[in-house]
Amino acid sequence: MSMRIHTRLDLRRLILLLSLAVALFSFFNSFHASYRTQRDLLIDHTLESNRVYAAKLRQSAEQLLSSMHQQLAYSAGLLAERMSQPERLAGETERLTRQSRHFNSAFVVRHDGKVLAASPESLGLLGQTLDSAGAREALDKRRPLISDPYVSATNRLVVFVSQPIFASDGSYLGYVGGSIYLQHENILHSLLGEHFYQDGSYLYVIDRNRRLIYHQDQERVGEIATGNPVVERLIRGEEGTLALTNSRGVEMLAGFAPVAATGWGIVAQRPLDLALQELDGLMLNILRLSLPLLLLSLAGIWWLSQLISRPLWQLAKSAQQWETEASPEQVRRIRAWYFEADQLKRAILASLALIHQRLGRLSQESLTDPLTGLGNRRCLQAQLERWQEQQQPFAAIALDIDHFKQVNDNHGHEFGDRVLQHLAQQMSDCSRASDLLCRSGGEEFVMLLPGASLEAARQVAERVRARMGGTCCEECPSVTVSAGVAHWPDSAASVEEVLKRADAALYQAKHAGRNRVEMA
Ligand code: GH3
Ligand code: MG
Ligand code: MG
Repeated sequence: MSMRIHTRLDLRRLILLLSLAVALFSFFNSFHASYRTQRDLLIDHTLESNRVYAAKLRQSAEQLLSSMHQQLAYSAGLLAERMSQPERLAGETERLTRQSRHFNSAFVVRHDGKVLAASPESLGLLGQTLDSAGAREALDKRRPLISDPYVSATNRLVVFVSQPIFASDGSYLGYVGGSIYLQHENILHSLLGEHFYQDGSYLYVIDRNRRLIYHQDQERVGEIATGNPVVERLIRGEEGTLALTNSRGVEMLAGFAPVAATGWGIVAQRPLDLALQELDGLMLNILRLSLPLLLLSLAGIWWLSQLISRPLWQLAKSAQQWETEASPEQVRRIRAWYFEADQLKRAILASLALIHQRLGRLSQESLTDPLTGLGNRRCLQAQLERWQEQQQPFAAIALDIDHFKQVNDNHGHEFGDRVLQHLAQQMSDCSRASDLLCRSGGEEFVMLLPGASLEAARQVAERVRARMGGTCCEECPSVTVSAGVAHWPDSAASVEEVLKRADAALYQAKHAGRNRVEMA
């Protein structure tokens, strides 16, 4: 009976599953790790480049402010001599607005606040007394100033830059100043706007009071930025970077730098999403580069799992079919190339050898009569079937000891046994190696002679009979046998029938007085 392996799981599938799980897990793990690393790198890089950018703009802003002051200082020097010449003053203010484009408007104001010159003229301020915060501060402080943003006399949000005008004797004559219109096209726009990124990054500038003085979205200029951690840090005069969520709920990567001279702060920032846009491409690239190796290692796993599992699978298969003759040869051919497989192979070979040896002995024993060493009835039956199958003609001799009961009674059972052994010996002496000798019952024997004719068999039977009748043994010279001879297929069509024919002939021999041979 052969047992099939029913389970779907075998070593190969287990190895495959395990290795696949490990390979895929480590692949995704490293993919994830490099994703995190790339992401952090991108963020750090964006933050840092924004900070550097803000710092660079801070420098540009400082340069701009200083060149504004220089320009105004130069004008103040010129104007000290010409305060009483309105055309010269007007010319100077016009030069300030037209030539340098630093200022949206320019003024010369007398020490009592009266406007001596203004450009552009359309402002209509000439001759008026200015009372704005910037004007008052300039008059009060009498030194170079950059104002905080305020709403001017012309109702504009402005930053006012001014230089005092002193006469040669040191008396204060007034000031010359320029306004930057924060909510109009101005010098800050050309300074900051030209650097404006196309990719969603943007800049804004706040003053020391958290007021937006520059923003890409003009509408927002003048707004006070509250609750923004970047602004808070700028107010404290810090330079740095920060990832934050802005007032519109967008995650931003900001770099910032304060402008010390004015207390302004410059912020350059980029939405996180945009900064990470590259990440998809990067990761795709990593995937593309690592995929061939992954596929190669998967193929390697497939091949190795086959290599490792094959010997064990073959051993298992052979163990399943242990009862077939070919089994040991099959096992011997298996290439058990590693320790466990080799040990199993040896063990299986050893136990197969043992099993076959035991089985051989058992079947030998099951076919043998222990007393005489001849075949038993089972052996006889098996041989008859084989010859019938092979169409092997044969002769059969049925033998029976005469008056054996009396032998037993007179000399004892043990003596009877020895007589049986003696008869077996005579049968053996009178036959060929190819003949089959059986003890078919108590003191009944059968000889099968393959290829022998009826006559040849009769002669063999006669020889046995003669030897028994002659000198069985000293104590009992009188033990004789009777025999019946038949032939297959001459005497009967079937092999069962031929034994019956031989028995019938034996019966005739008994009937005719014993110690003789009869033919069917
Ligand atoms: P016949 O001439 O008619 O054959 O007379 P017989 O006495 O031989 O008669 P039968 O064949 O009926 O007797 C068989 C006897 O063989 C019975 C039994 O005591 C004896 N016998 C059978 N098997 C054995 C055995 O294994 N050992 C011994 N010692 N005797 C056996
Ligand atoms: Mg008998
Ligand atoms: Mg008998």
